[in-house]
Amino acid sequence: MDYRPIPAMFLADALGIDFLNSIATPVDEPVDWIGDGEGLLSWLEQASLVPVDVLAHMRSQIRPAELDEVAAKARGLREWFRAFVQKNKGRPLTARDLSELEPLNSVLRRDERYGSIAANAESASGLTFTMQRRYSSAESLLMPIVEALAKLVCEEDFTYVKACEGPKCTLLFADHTRGHARRWCSMAICGNRAKVAAHRARLREGKSG
Ligand SMILES: [Zn+2]
Repeated sequence: MDYRPIPAMFLADALGIDFLNSIATPVDEPVDWIGDGEGLLSWLEQASLVPVDVLAHMRSQIRPAELDEVAAKARGLREWFRAFVQKNKGRPLTARDLSELEPLNSVLRRDERYGSIAANAESASGLTFTMQRRYSSAESLLMPIVEALAKLVCEEDFTYVKACEGPKCTLLFADHTRGHARRWCSMAICGNRAKVAAHRARLREGKSG
């Protein structure tokens, strides 16, 4: 299904998991927001992961076929990472999991981050140290995604990474609620569906009993 009229979903409470949710079935048909190069650019913009001027430059200077290839790499990364999360969610990660994360490190080694000093009115010195990224090729669009995945595995407690309980839902999220009672990707999507189903079941029981 065409992703274009539908905004991407950012309900995971963790950007690395939102990336996994860039393919989903919000209504009946699956939508892949990064199904091609333009989709990838649009998803990165909606996620505020890449500066808008960089995306505009990519859109005008890079051949669509080349952007499509990068989108295909992003999808490959997404499905590999989904398997990792499915396997490891529900327990904290440990240093023993590092060997499985080499695909992220191998991308990160090619990252072109650099520091610079900039003005900052809120700092006592009036100056601040900031990190930026050089986007020297279409493939560099993968870097902020891989950074988000790397931060997720380092900073998120996988004990509370969960799959939505909606029977047909594939969405994942990080449960940051107090008491860790979150069950749904969102109340508007699966929470209400479950309420309606429970209500119908009660009605049926009422009739038969
Ligand atoms: Zn759901």
